[in-house]
Amino acid sequence: MKLNQSSTSMINRTLKVISSDKPKNWQEILSELITDPKELLQLLRLDINEKPASLVGLKQFPLKVPRPFVDAISPGNWSDPLLRQVWPSIEEDVISDGFSSDPLQESNFNPVPGLLHKYQARVLLTAAAHCAVHCRYCFRRHFDYKSNSPSRSDWLDSLDYIKDDPSIKEVILSGGDPLAISDKQLAWLIQELESISHLKILRIHSRIPIVLPQRMTSELTTLLNETKFDVVLVVHSNHSQEITNQVKENLNSLRASKVNLLNQSVLLAGVNDDSQVLKELSQTLISLNILPYYLHLPDKVSGTSHFSVSSEKAIKILNSLRDELPGYLVPNLVQEEPGELSKTRLV
Ligand SMILES: *Cc1c(COP(=O)(O)O)cnc(C)c1O
Ligand code: SF4
Repeated sequence: MKLNQSSTSMINRTLKVISSDKPKNWQEILSELITDPKELLQLLRLDINEKPASLVGLKQFPLKVPRPFVDAISPGNWSDPLLRQVWPSIEEDVISDGFSSDPLQESNFNPVPGLLHKYQARVLLTAAAHCAVHCRYCFRRHFDYKSNSPSRSDWLDSLDYIKDDPSIKEVILSGGDPLAISDKQLAWLIQELESISHLKILRIHSRIPIVLPQRMTSELTTLLNETKFDVVLVVHSNHSQEITNQVKENLNSLRASKVNLLNQSVLLAGVNDDSQVLKELSQTLISLNILPYYLHLPDKVSGTSHFSVSSEKAIKILNSLRDELPGYLVPNLVQEEPGELSKTRLV
């Protein structure tokens, strides 16, 4: 068929409509993260002059927000609890006593690059050096990902370390965000771990199911369902507003799988330091078969003091949760302390 100019342009227009209608896959969304503060504010109809960004903060830990997460932020509202988690506010410039770049002294428990062995019977493996989002409160904002960036040879060193220690029963994939790597890499890693007979549990800690729900594909579900391990997926959500219909839809596919679902939150001033907010979060999570696991007091990392909640206030919030919710919907309020054998429970 010979095409004249007008039919070609019609076809082009049709193709354009088709391609813009097609939902983006997670890799595409990951390659189109918002990294420019001005663009973020433009989308949210906010004026940068009202709340300038911290240049030091941006340099240290650049802005990174996936578009589906931006869609869940209410426009025109500086106090939006989701925006507060991603906006590099000038409060990051505040220097506070007791805040440092490695408050957990993790470098003491780093026997092989990319591996943390701090607690009995479980190790934490850095499966990815990057995340889909940069949470401003992140305790790893100063983490040396360059020397802890997992190359295959580092993974091999970590695997050797795990093989040599039969007391290790559980591997926790962490990061960065372990679901930021491809299914192929994940499948390779799981297969290598499966060859270590003393390992029983595979745990994945990830914020991606919340901030980039498109990552939760049926291929990933199959991968997790078919491993011989008992599987625990700990998602990281801090506020029920993050649990959009898209998040619900994509997590639903895990319902029929063997994956145990838990949630971990960080208690953050101006985001969720309120018992009603946390109550609603627990109630939303249970509708998705997810149980609350930990509520962390934020670690004292420099640049994050504006998220601090006192332990007195935290305990008060937890006690109200206990008054209002069944026990299984109340998370454990914990704090990470260097040198302890487990996370410290506050109550
Ligand atoms: C939190 C953490 C774990 C896991 O602790 P659980 O209490 O089992 O959830 C393991 N290793 C490190 C280094 C941790 O920080
Ligand atoms: S997803 Fe987790 S590791 Fe990544 S920036 Fe957020 S809090 Fe930090």
